[in-house]
Amino acid sequence: MFQLDTVLRSHIRSLTPYSSARDEYTGKEGIFLDANENAYGSVTTEAYNRYPDPHQQAIKERLAPIKGVRPGQIFIGNGSDEAIDLLVRATCTPGQDSILILPPTYGMYEVSAAINDVPVIRVPLTPAFQIDVPAVQAAVQPHTKLLFVCSPNNPTGNLIHRNDILTLLDSFDGLVIVDEAYIDFADSQSFIALLDQYSNLVVLQTFSKAWGLAALRSGMAFASEELIRILDKIKPPYNISGPTQQLLLQALENVSGKNEMVDRTLARREELIGNLLNLPLVRHVYPSDANFLLVKFDDPRAIFDYLISRQIIVRDRHRVRLCEGCLRITVGTGQENEQLLSMLKAFYETVTIGA
Ligand SMILES: *Cc1c(COP(=O)(O)O)cnc(C)c1O
Repeated sequence: MFQLDTVLRSHIRSLTPYSSARDEYTGKEGIFLDANENAYGSVTTEAYNRYPDPHQQAIKERLAPIKGVRPGQIFIGNGSDEAIDLLVRATCTPGQDSILILPPTYGMYEVSAAINDVPVIRVPLTPAFQIDVPAVQAAVQPHTKLLFVCSPNNPTGNLIHRNDILTLLDSFDGLVIVDEAYIDFADSQSFIALLDQYSNLVVLQTFSKAWGLAALRSGMAFASEELIRILDKIKPPYNISGPTQQLLLQALENVSGKNEMVDRTLARREELIGNLLNLPLVRHVYPSDANFLLVKFDDPRAIFDYLISRQIIVRDRHRVRLCEGCLRITVGTGQENEQLLSMLKAFYETVTIGA
């Protein structure tokens, strides 16, 4: 049975958190002279003079039934990037404990570790972009606290085999963090359903992709109540702003609007795959369970530069191991995808005429 105390840094376990004015008095009515706010209001049209709920209780209560969890199993962060950073800081003593990642993958795990002076163990995915489970098990060290699995994976776009993640959940002594930033685009059940079965599981999701709220900077972590209490204890007290909380509540009233955008994106994705495969420039389009495509070209750098010169910006991943020759292309609107395709055709014509 996994014991959270075995992965927490001892000073985090015993830490007394900051007690905010909103913690010490939780009533809603009254004359508030406790937080040194501006009693007159704000200079903006809307009033923002009061500190927001440090625990985002209304959001958690609304989100819990949508995700099938208890409110106490939810952490809301300033982007899922905040949750990643807090997980590293809660568990890894700099220079001593390590995290394990599976490249090519999302860059923030490594950056968070580097900021905190935490060593990173890298076990590359297989050429099919799946986990080399025996290699992971062999690479884990006694001080490895966190294992990050991104599924669907960024930048490769594919889901990671469920059974491999389960094997790691069963065999790894630290926390397994399943980053599901793109789960809404995948035809797959979330690992959230397994939270009560695996107390070493953390699931990350975000409002930045399917929900269309990247500018709000809000992400979610789902885990045991015990771990969520730790994250809440070490986060900056008012990490989610008042306007963001209001907008998140509004978003959560419109799950169907989110689902409609996902459906449209998926239709455009399938169309884009077909159209890309018809281009002679394209060597390969990797299967995608996300809202982007990893596409292999003969001359990725020249295509990337040409697209930039035509103000179409994609992500250059050709120098990333296992992604040689690849650009990562987000699925746009129908019109944006058409423009991308016509620019790729125009590039092809320039090179063939030039040859
Ligand atoms: C985009 C993305 C996120 C989201 O990060 P936020 O900080 O919530 O915007 C998290 N993980 C992966 C793999 C991503 O691609």
